[in-house]
Amino acid sequence: MTTIAESPACPSVDRVDALTPVLPVLGHDTPAPLVDGRRVPYANLDVAASAPALQAVGDRVTAALPLYASVHRGAGYLSQVSTTLYESARATIGEFVGARPDDLTLLVRNTTDALNLLAGCVPAADGTPGRVLVLDVEHHANLLPWQRATDATVLTGRGTVAATLEAVRAELAAGAAAGRGYALLAVTGASNVTGETLPVADVVAAAHGAGARVVLDGAQLVPHRRFSLAQTGVDYVAFSGHKAYAPFGAGALVGRRDWLDAGTPYLAGGGAVRSVRVDGTDWHDGPARHEAGSPNVLGAVALAAACETLAAVDTVALREHEDALRARLVDGLEAIDGVEVVRLWPDAPDTVGVVTFTVSGYEPGQVAAYLSAEHGIGVRDGRFCAHPLLTRLGYRAGAVRASVGAGTAGEEVERLVAAVAALVADGPRADYAVVDGLWVVVDDPRPVPEGSGLDGLLATAGPGGDEAFACVPD
Ligand code: PMP
Repeated sequence: MTTIAESPACPSVDRVDALTPVLPVLGHDTPAPLVDGRRVPYANLDVAASAPALQAVGDRVTAALPLYASVHRGAGYLSQVSTTLYESARATIGEFVGARPDDLTLLVRNTTDALNLLAGCVPAADGTPGRVLVLDVEHHANLLPWQRATDATVLTGRGTVAATLEAVRAELAAGAAAGRGYALLAVTGASNVTGETLPVADVVAAAHGAGARVVLDGAQLVPHRRFSLAQTGVDYVAFSGHKAYAPFGAGALVGRRDWLDAGTPYLAGGGAVRSVRVDGTDWHDGPARHEAGSPNVLGAVALAAACETLAAVDTVALREHEDALRARLVDGLEAIDGVEVVRLWPDAPDTVGVVTFTVSGYEPGQVAAYLSAEHGIGVRDGRFCAHPLLTRLGYRAGAVRASVGAGTAGEEVERLVAAVAALVADGPRADYAVVDGLWVVVDDPRPVPEGSGLDGLLATAGPGGDEAFACVPD
């Protein structure tokens, strides 16, 4: 198995039209209406925000639904089946990220939830909150929980990985020398802005050498690279199901048991306690301590199905697929006049399929509105919940982000590159304006889904759909 530590450099590629998805995802051919009245297959290049469900995930949830019943305390047969489904999902999810035998796997809602939970478990030192070191490159989910619940220091990242690591080592050493060492280093697995990674082995060596633990924000890494707690020595990893092709509301925090068993129970309520008196509570340890309330069984089942599917796929094929798509995005976009690709660390050892860029003369929101309205492409614009980073890099007005995954086809990437080139060469065909802070098409003729949101789509999608919206490539 190729691990993050051994990743080869990204290949440079010309065109990727022939690349087909590595794994089947649902909704791949959904027709998207354009302003000129045509429909084209929706190109989902916003996978870093939320990935489409794997076919295997949809199938597993459909199979599990009739078996769903109350879990943990129900004596009935389906309660026992559901409890088994939930607990075996927990084991699969932990195994997927290489949990050590004594690690806990906590089932939460998402990465944000996981990191907030861990923030309540960082041990205090001499009666004051434990110290946490975090870089300013982080997603707000890996910044704000530390600032709120711990004694957090935000270190400014440097222009290279080497210089950033040096600054981290120096700050960790300074903390230890001052007699108030850091308890935890919280670091991204892969940037949600640039897709770049830090060398995990070096990060772990730096932290452990100074007596600190490491939590990895795996939101952008775990769905795209095989990651192992046991192999890397990382102490905790957090990740989200909806970014891992399992959009059913579950995520996970996996890692060392002692802090989690002693930390503040994340949710106070039923299931987290051994006994409750009016004058005190005896909390459980283990996962139950933090998982009060009725758990998200189907979310856990979905995430486990995604983990199983990703574990079974050829990791080299998955990496090569995403590397080729990313390389084509970077090369294709940088070849267009006035387009700038955002970079953080030119010496990053690996990059996942996230590419952020700006187009001279156009606001990011207008580019995103144009790509959707005229080309059926979904991207993200803004500051990507990484305000300190975007500000430091000089992108106060934000940027546009395209992201790919196992379900992305080469045609979608080619369509984006061609669409941005057409924007720069000829300008947009429709008129755009800012309404309530958002870029929209003026007098937008596209139909909007009504009612539950499915009615309008189901009425016109697929065979036998509205003749006026024949599904043709752009
Ligand atoms: N960390 C990173 C690197 C992310 O990309 C995201 C989501 N964009 C998060 C944390 C937060 O994930 P979630 O919204 O699933 O909690």
